Amino acid sequence: NKILEIKNLHASVIDDSAEDSRKEILRGVNLTIPAGETHVIMGPNGSGKSTLSYVLSGHPDYEVTQGSVTFKGQDLLSMSPDERAAAGLFLAFQAPVELPGVNNANFLRTAVNSVRKARGEEELDPVNFLKLVKELAKKLSFSTDMLKRNVNVGFSGGEKKRNEVLQMTLLQPSFAILDETDSGLDIDALRIVAEGVKSLRSSKFSSLIITHHQRLLDHIQPDYIHVLAKGRIIHKGGPELSRQLEAEGYGRLVGEADE
Ligand code: ADP
Ligand code: MG
Ligand code: MG
Repeated sequence: NKILEIKNLHASVIDDSAEDSRKEILRGVNLTIPAGETHVIMGPNGSGKSTLSYVLSGHPDYEVTQGSVTFKGQDLLSMSPDERAAAGLFLAFQAPVELPGVNNANFLRTAVNSVRKARGEEELDPVNFLKLVKELAKKLSFSTDMLKRNVNVGFSGGEKKRNEVLQMTLLQPSFAILDETDSGLDIDALRIVAEGVKSLRSSKFSSLIITHHQRLLDHIQPDYIHVLAKGRIIHKGGPELSRQLEAEGYGRLVGEADE
């Protein structure tokens, strides 16, 4: 019933500007996420949270030096980013890319159809796609004008977030990783993210959410919270852990882990 299993994961960032260009960021991450659960990662700045999401996405700037990641029983690390998406993994980054000259509706339809094709499902024709996307856009209070524009170009932060959540709900992933750290989301955008995750929730959907936002956690009500510090998961707790961390900071847990 485990959907994602990370074992002793070590990863380095390849930083060409540095003298010693391999810097180890993840130093033995262990994390198991069963189907149907919502897990959260919190942790001090620079602890490797975004690095973990990049490694899981297959970003070329990061090199895995040890350990394994199993996704639905398959070796995730040997899969290309496209294969990861086809297998049901969805990743949302802190800063969604802008694509000038690429129509948003066409972009979304291409993304959805490539995943449907890989899953052996029928591709959506433009008419059926538009019907589906308009339905979802309405639920997300997302103006259909945004579908006619170029991908994320000139979108406000909240609009980019809505577009990302729209893409996620269209793709119907079985696992979503959302890195919300430092993104300065307003209250509406937080609510959109929460609604998007909640709308997908089922016994076949899991998520890993990286966030500092207590308000997002209040909306989402995660099953577990993990603390990542210095490239390792040092603590696991229930949803109440976030308030405890807000009150006392990370100092005590990090100190105990160092001993
Ligand atoms: P977090 O998301 O927890 O704040 P990050 O994963 O972004 O942490 O960063 C972890 C550490 O790795 C930091 O010290 C950061 O400076 C370093 N790092 C991350 N990406 C790069 C990169 N592309 N080049 C150099 N250093 C990086
Ligand atoms: Mg950071
Ligand atoms: Mg980060």
